[in-house]
Amino acid sequence: MKSVCCFVLLLFAAVPLLHAQCNPDDTVESWYSWAKEWENYAVDQFPISEADEMKIGDTLNQNMYKENKIIKKYNKQAYLDGIVKKLTKNVKRPGITYTIHVIDDPKTLNAFSVAGGHLYVTSKMVDWTESEDELAFVIAHEIAHIDNRHSIRKVQKMVLGHTLFDSYGYGDVAANLGLLISAPFGQIDEYDADRGGATLTAKAGYNPRKGLRFFEKMDEKESYDLMEKIIRTHPYSKERLNCLDDYIKNELGM
Ligand SMILES: [Zn+2]
Repeated sequence: MKSVCCFVLLLFAAVPLLHAQCNPDDTVESWYSWAKEWENYAVDQFPISEADEMKIGDTLNQNMYKENKIIKKYNKQAYLDGIVKKLTKNVKRPGITYTIHVIDDPKTLNAFSVAGGHLYVTSKMVDWTESEDELAFVIAHEIAHIDNRHSIRKVQKMVLGHTLFDSYGYGDVAANLGLLISAPFGQIDEYDADRGGATLTAKAGYNPRKGLRFFEKMDEKESYDLMEKIIRTHPYSKERLNCLDDYIKNELGM
């Protein structure tokens, strides 16, 4: 049992360092994809109910409010709530309730989500996106991270990794919110959230091609050398744009 656990931990440590593309097809990419599936399988041996996932999410959200300047009465809240309502009509796990929060940050371009349905965007993100369709894509990507269980698996991995050695629990994860938020999903999950987000965007009646505009603009802001590219956990915007373009054309037929 002990050697199996070590293998799990080794995989957890090794997987985020590798590079993956949208359609893994050569040897390294296939291995990465296989390792990810194995990792998910291992985590899924410890199932968690949607009710518990939302309880964990609410605790994480309380800490988010303590650690960030979240706008209580945002003037575009109804607009954002409307986007979330449209996007979540077609989620795979309708039992999860989604709520969007806006962080008062006019300088940082950011969007993220935590398990259990809480979505966050900075005020800069809302203002920087050029259309409702483009913003809808950004939000849909975050919804897909929750809907496809990337977010709750990230929490579970933190807890499982610790409980092999001590009595670390979900409350400790909430207390280490910064660690949880900064822990990367990994590239396979990022591409998966791009595809899931594009599907939700299209089903909600938005034009997912406007999401490509977001990556075009991000690509203009990025300048990384090859070394950074290999160790980066978020794929290049240019690569994400190409993968998304391919998916929208070939899978969504748009
Ligand atoms: Zn993401």
